[in-house]
Amino acid sequence: MTALRTVLITGTSSGIGLATAVAAARAGWQVVATLRDTGKAGALRAAVDEAGVTDRVRVAHLDVTDPASVAAAVADAVATYGHLDAVINNAGVGQLGTVEQIGVDAFRSVMEVNFFGVVELTLAALPHLRASGGRVITVSSLGGVVGQPFNEAYCAAKFAVEGFLESLAPVAATTGVRVSVVEPGAVASEFVASLGPSLPGLVENAGPYEAAFKAYFENTAGFFEQAQSSEDAAASVVEVLTAPEPAFRVQTSDVARGLAAIKLADLDGSAVHAFTGPWLS
Ligand code: NAP
Repeated sequence: MTALRTVLITGTSSGIGLATAVAAARAGWQVVATLRDTGKAGALRAAVDEAGVTDRVRVAHLDVTDPASVAAAVADAVATYGHLDAVINNAGVGQLGTVEQIGVDAFRSVMEVNFFGVVELTLAALPHLRASGGRVITVSSLGGVVGQPFNEAYCAAKFAVEGFLESLAPVAATTGVRVSVVEPGAVASEFVASLGPSLPGLVENAGPYEAAFKAYFENTAGFFEQAQSSEDAAASVVEVLTAPEPAFRVQTSDVARGLAAIKLADLDGSAVHAFTGPWLS
């Protein structure tokens, strides 16, 4: 049993998850930092040691696509610390390509990680969060609000996440559990490396979309050059973790806020089309 509040975070081998684990421990939380492959915990352990919070971070195995590992990690956290006060659904993968390039299996596999993984952990955690008056925080994406060309599977999965959690939020609130989504724009992390088939492979099978696909790359290359750091994005996540009255939807940068604002006022879809259409020519 610990007096510190306990948070379990998925996908902490790198990027936003790693930075959130460190920042939450720094903010005084007991962190269960989970990875699908604990052999990849080197960078996390080094960052945690450097931040002087080693005693507040427990590394544990959790693959969001494996329900048994989700249940085991939640049970272990509760058995070890006596309570679970928040979960942060952070694990996620990218997937580039339009449906005719990548096929339905790619959609299924992104949904498994980015959507069903969120459902699985949220379901396992809710009884414990009810007991603690806790929080479900999910790293969604600007791609969960604005559909982006050649990111159909990714955006579909993140839209599903937002639909699930926007619907759950008022239900969970009746039992004292807060639900929030955090929406980053481009963030510097290992994310780009997880985007699926290599670019030359995708260009080769782009067929009628070859010119649009190449234009997409030329026009959006700058987005990641201006990406915010994982630490910056993590600071927004920890704000949601610690705020007395967290909002349901939180963007992590002015860029993300500006684009989400366009979408959320775009009743007929023309404003988003006017924004993303020019990326393809
Ligand atoms: P990242 O550095 O690639 O981190 C992704 C994490 O998810 C890694 O720890 C990865 O583990 C883990 N993961 C993947 N599949 C998993 C599974 N089946 N079970 C458990 N963990 C799994 O990228 P990131 O940018 O920090 O991404 C974190 C979240 O932010 C994601 O949900 C992503 O969609 C979202 N996001 C990112 C950006 C961006 O521009 N980077 C923008 C908006 C939203 P491995 O090391 O084992 O692969």
